[in-house]
Amino acid sequence: MSALTVKDVTKSFGAQPVLRGVDLEVASGALAAVLGPSGCGKTTLLRVVAGFEQPDSGSVTVGGRQVTGPGRAVAPERRRVAVVPQEGALFPHLTVAENVAFGLPRRARRGARVGELLELVGLAGYGDRMPSQLSGGQQQRVAVARALAPAPDVVLLDEPFSALDAALRAAVRADVRAALHAAGATAVLVTHDQEEALSTADVVAVMRDGVVVQSGLPQDVYRYPKDVDVARFVGEAVVIPATVRDGVVWTPLGHLPLTQTAADGMGTVVLRPEQVHLVDPADGLPARVVDTYFYGHDASVRLEVHCPGEVRLPVVCRTQGELPEEQAVGVRIVGPVTWF
Ligand code: ATP
Repeated sequence: MSALTVKDVTKSFGAQPVLRGVDLEVASGALAAVLGPSGCGKTTLLRVVAGFEQPDSGSVTVGGRQVTGPGRAVAPERRRVAVVPQEGALFPHLTVAENVAFGLPRRARRGARVGELLELVGLAGYGDRMPSQLSGGQQQRVAVARALAPAPDVVLLDEPFSALDAALRAAVRADVRAALHAAGATAVLVTHDQEEALSTADVVAVMRDGVVVQSGLPQDVYRYPKDVDVARFVGEAVVIPATVRDGVVWTPLGHLPLTQTAADGMGTVVLRPEQVHLVDPADGLPARVVDTYFYGHDASVRLEVHCPGEVRLPVVCRTQGELPEEQAVGVRIVGPVTWF
């Protein structure tokens, strides 16, 4: 069953259309990421779902109840939707336990529920501290506990990890995901960070210019992007000119298998850096190393491939170590590519 359905929602501010017909469906208990570049309308979408903005047209349904539309607009506090803002926004003068209790109905504030929620986010025993005595990551986990307190139908998280430093972000992300899943919560995470979306969410909705252009499992969105822009937005893409003739695709790198069937014509294929394998120069197309970017866990190497007919093609691959500039290597493409 879907806990949240957004159907053909539009919203303009003055003459500027910001949402142009957004469709989004989040299954009960799922964590969905809305991924898109800055300004594409992600925050506006969250605000419409939360009830802080009214859509111009379309509808929002939360837990089976339509909460927007003429005569149906439900006030934010009655929507059973909780929001975790960018920086947790805890009440600084309340203890951690009081912050979490704030999300509960008055009569439940003194019960065991606060302790359970703190345990859920890995902060059992922190109830008496003040927010200023917590790290940024701990504060975000308290904000999540507070959002989960009233057992909302949907939790909305607006770039909740962006204020954390890189080392902390991955750990807090994992803790928050675990807490949301353990609570059985349905959640929507807004982010412009593709790695965060792919690694954290159960489903990813890619947003561009006020519409969701593609949604699906992270693996599917990465492997079968709908167009070149989605391919580029959800990861590094190597884009190569190509021609399809009699159902076979030809590129300067040779004949490559496709992820789908394609009609004859000219276009492009997209492949991922991990599909570019380095082999002995005698066993692949000759290439030379242009430069290397070292990331610790691996390195990204830019290559110039010498294709038949004097064509020079830039590609990128991943390696375990760095390679010296100008080094001669061989290149072989492994796995199917996507045709556009
Ligand atoms: P970011 O990742 O930078 O937060 P976003 O994808 O969340 O971006 P929104 O904050 O939804 O984008 O903004 C989309 C567009 O709508 C922007 O051009 C913004 O200036 C505009 N906008 C948002 N809220 C308002 C408002 N209340 N009044 C006028 N314009 C607004």
